[in-house]
Amino acid sequence: MEHLPIFFDVKAQPCLVVGGGPVAWRKLEHLRRAGARVVLVAPRCIPEVQALIDVGAIAHRARAFVPADLDGMRLVVAATDDRDVNRGIAALAKARALPVNVADQPEDCTFTMPAIIDRSPVVVAVSTGSASPVLARMIRARLESLVPAGYGRLATLCARYRDRVKTRFAAQRDRRRFWDRVLQGGVAERVFAGRLDEADAAMERELAAPDPSACMGEVYLVGAGPGDPDLLTFRALRLMQQADVVVYDRLVAKPIIDMTRRDARRIYVGKERNAHTMRQEEINALLARLAREGHRVLRLKGGDPFIFGRGGEEIDTLAAEGIPFQIVPGITAANGCACYAGIPLTHRDHAQSVTFVTGHLQDGSIDLDWPSLARPRQTVVFYMGLMGLAVIVERLRAHGVAAHMPVALIQQGTTHMQKVYVGTLATILDKVAADPPQPPTLVIVGEVVRMRDKLAWFDPEADPERGATTPILP
Ligand code: SAH
Repeated sequence: MEHLPIFFDVKAQPCLVVGGGPVAWRKLEHLRRAGARVVLVAPRCIPEVQALIDVGAIAHRARAFVPADLDGMRLVVAATDDRDVNRGIAALAKARALPVNVADQPEDCTFTMPAIIDRSPVVVAVSTGSASPVLARMIRARLESLVPAGYGRLATLCARYRDRVKTRFAAQRDRRRFWDRVLQGGVAERVFAGRLDEADAAMERELAAPDPSACMGEVYLVGAGPGDPDLLTFRALRLMQQADVVVYDRLVAKPIIDMTRRDARRIYVGKERNAHTMRQEEINALLARLAREGHRVLRLKGGDPFIFGRGGEEIDTLAAEGIPFQIVPGITAANGCACYAGIPLTHRDHAQSVTFVTGHLQDGSIDLDWPSLARPRQTVVFYMGLMGLAVIVERLRAHGVAAHMPVALIQQGTTHMQKVYVGTLATILDKVAADPPQPPTLVIVGEVVRMRDKLAWFDPEADPERGATTPILP
């Protein structure tokens, strides 16, 4: 972090602004909104500033800056149009350990003023560490649309009920759950709609409701996509931030785990190949137990939960026991890898269908309908196909697929570790043997693989921030 973000209480504090132009005006307006007692030093002012002086909203010293202006101040803003004068003021302020901001001269500042979204008492501040104020303003504009104006009113309501809620719910977990329900449910909706009396009534009802610790929890079975956190759905993200227990396995990328609620309990259930940390039945039972204890449980799965994810089995147990659940789809590895490798899964001329199959090797063979997979004009995607790659190649050849049929093997697709091996049924085994890939990998067989020559776009090295799907230790 370039700077420490803090929120400074300047209410009724004397704050000095030097300069009488538009920049000084902008800065002093921020100070005024935060309740500061602004003292302005400038021989001349623009009319907007003069108007504030005329109504007594700010004090004015109508002359050039002198060092004694710093006496008694809590904070200083130097905003004259003379860089040297600004620098001189900053040096004097620093010598007195006064926080100082100099407009457009980050090197002279001890604090910067962020772009802000004001939904008082909620305030969101955006800083780019002086790298690009324009970018900060752009981000602010996006956040403006995400944070409805009603959030300020909602926060005010929370403040009013805070003590009562604390008395009503002794355990922090219960309080948290109560506030989650209030902030994401009917109470918040009424506040946003401006129906404050109704919001109060709803709040009273919530407070009178039976103890929530006796309540049943819920399980969210969420697809986390193939690795790149940008590929999460909004719904996945929302539930990730609500759940108080997270149950995850090896396929979920670390940056995605990091996006779950910070104080959530995280349970790693493994699933390395041939070294299952927890058996599937144990995972099913664990989810049910946690929900019965009243937790909101996030079961995060790589890709989509219903595609080779055993999501169906996990939900089966919950359904049988009457435990509430939600299922959130994710981008499955085939979609993610194909797009990030520049390989369209279907194509008007080359592939009228696409089939997802498991290439899981069992007792040296893969139990699939090979004659149908060998038919032309389709794309076949093998999940879990790395160990059985030789069998896949041999079976397809044996069922008449030409040796020159293109094959792509994608390692850790959509992440900064993505690597694409392209060959044919005749060459892919040698290519993979020469430079063994790291799982997870996906195999795509079909004419469409050739399109990659034209359509490849994703450069994993250019974006080291993307999720790594390398094994995560508990
Ligand atoms: N439910 C998951 C699939 C789980 S099976 C989904 O919808 O994607 C595990 C297999 O998925 C792996 O063996 C591998 O073949 C594939 N896989 C998952 N993530 C991958 C990734 N980022 N890159 C390549 N293959 C991946």
